[in-house]
Amino acid sequence: TDLKHIRNFSIVAHIDHGKSTLADRLIQSTNTVADRDMKEQLLDSMDIERERGITIKANTVRIDYQAKDGETYVLNLIDTPGHVDFAYEVSRSMRAVEGSLLVVDSTQGVEAQTLANVYQAIEADHEIVPVLNKIDLPASDCDRVAEQIEDVIGIDSTDAVQVSAKSGIGIEDTLEAIVTRLPAPTGDRDAPLKAMLVDSWYDAYLGVVVLVRIMDGTLRKGQRITMMQTGANYPVDRIGVFRPEMAQVDELGPGEIGFITASIKQVRDTKVGDTITTEKKGAEEPLEGFKPSQPVVFCGLFPVDSAEFEDLRGAIEKLALNDASFSYEMETSAALGFGFRCGFLGLLHLEVIRDRIEREYNIELITTAPSVIYHVYMKGKDNEPGEMIELHNPADMPDLSKVDHLEEPRIKATIMVPDEYLGDVLKLCQDRRGIQEDLTYAGSRAMAVYDLPLNEVVFDFYDRLKSVTKGYASFDYQMTGYREDTLVKMSILVNEEPVDALSVMVHRDRAELRGRAMCEKLKDLIPRHMFKIPIQAAIGGKVIARETLAALRKDVTAKCYGGDMTRKKKLLEKQKAGKKKMRQFGKVDIPQEAFISALKMD
Ligand code: GDP
Ligand code: MG
Repeated sequence: TDLKHIRNFSIVAHIDHGKSTLADRLIQSTNTVADRDMKEQLLDSMDIERERGITIKANTVRIDYQAKDGETYVLNLIDTPGHVDFAYEVSRSMRAVEGSLLVVDSTQGVEAQTLANVYQAIEADHEIVPVLNKIDLPASDCDRVAEQIEDVIGIDSTDAVQVSAKSGIGIEDTLEAIVTRLPAPTGDRDAPLKAMLVDSWYDAYLGVVVLVRIMDGTLRKGQRITMMQTGANYPVDRIGVFRPEMAQVDELGPGEIGFITASIKQVRDTKVGDTITTEKKGAEEPLEGFKPSQPVVFCGLFPVDSAEFEDLRGAIEKLALNDASFSYEMETSAALGFGFRCGFLGLLHLEVIRDRIEREYNIELITTAPSVIYHVYMKGKDNEPGEMIELHNPADMPDLSKVDHLEEPRIKATIMVPDEYLGDVLKLCQDRRGIQEDLTYAGSRAMAVYDLPLNEVVFDFYDRLKSVTKGYASFDYQMTGYREDTLVKMSILVNEEPVDALSVMVHRDRAELRGRAMCEKLKDLIPRHMFKIPIQAAIGGKVIARETLAALRKDVTAKCYGGDMTRKKKLLEKQKAGKKKMRQFGKVDIPQEAFISALKMD
């Protein structure tokens, strides 16, 4: 295809503002998919997504559109994930296209994810077309929202396209805006091949599928290609485009987006952001690279039944083959035995992986407290600064006497919230050691920007934010760097024995509060035993909080009077089932849920 007849774009939006519905309409109105095959959320329902149960991977569709100028254009839409954990995947797919539709719900206005995503589009030098959606609803207020887009984001919105993705109003206008207002890609057909590796995933029939954007040159079937970063060579098996199902083509030229398969064994062999060129007469300089995505949240995964350790290893290895941003290493815990220390992009990512292990591999897990990476600076010789250790697990915290100081990761958080909940949000941020950087208003919504420690956010910040604002707040964050603070490791002792899987890193000033809260929680979560159980929180050797779980006075079944045998039996069965989800620590049974619940701060 001629470059001037190609338009590559993505759609950026806050969740629920109508991105998927609009994509469906664009596909449908251009007859890309026959009406009888049309189903809702076409892009979202593609296999890869159904498999993961959530929009994580970028999806792509190629649409042919006959414009009002009489010419036929190829429109490539790359769909991007909306969740904060996957901001990195958004940024890399943005670099494969030249423009964005900025979809804003005209009954709601700009939200935190609208901002986060549009900033990525701006950073990728996109031309941006504002699209005001849901104009069919009585609460729609296009003038107000257009003004808000100008005020908050600084994009001219006088020519914003007004649409109802649901009832199909303004779809033609949107297609015309894509053709007339977004730039065509540039590239040199005769130059050596340079293709950007945008994404890759495992397909049960085809093996590893690689999504590429051709920058220069031509990619042909049968060519031998080289991945410039890894140096690996492969013959190209298949080349194709997404309509949105895979359709094979013979070649892809500059500006085009499509896929290749090349008998690549595992997704790990494909580095997102890598440059693909031909083995012979290839490009000399790779494209400007991406930063690899780094796990930021770590936790331990242990089988409830220690006999399932090998099964867990198998499950984790399989999942890791196709998710390069998930890391793992073996871990042993005095309390939990053998397991794995795993790294994730964020909490949602953690939950997705944990659920898949439990659901698809049928292994019950104990998940230890999520932790971030701390920088531990050791004392050197003669007052010289010593080495820095990356601490992924509170259990590995060196003895404090050998430590000079600690640094923790910080984030810049953007929260948008209706006025009436602002007070609660500010209090929450303050409670989590946040420093306010900015507070502005757009209409009846406030936008608060906070500098927060990541460790105060990874656990339940988002849940708390949703609950104090009745779901009306939106939230987004990005990592900003490391800063020194007075952090300590707090251990939890149950019946005088430290349970390493419950250790957490906390700020010194908040340790007592957290310690008391955890002990109280654990007192409710651990069932009574035949003996009294002290539950303590300690820093170093010093106990800072303590609760005592009273002993059972007599056998529980004693309270069923002699005659009622069925009730007695039921009770015993229930106890037995409960036992399955418990792990023994010394003489004490601790239920699986205690490991996560103990950390919640409400
Ligand atoms: P996404 O999260 O941005 O992909 O949003 P969806 O496309 O899934 O839409 C979220 C909800 O808004 C769904 O219930 C849609 O049916 C609804 N929706 C999308 N566009 C419109 C619209 O133009 N008008 C109305 N009334 N509802 C819409
Ligand atoms: Mg969607």
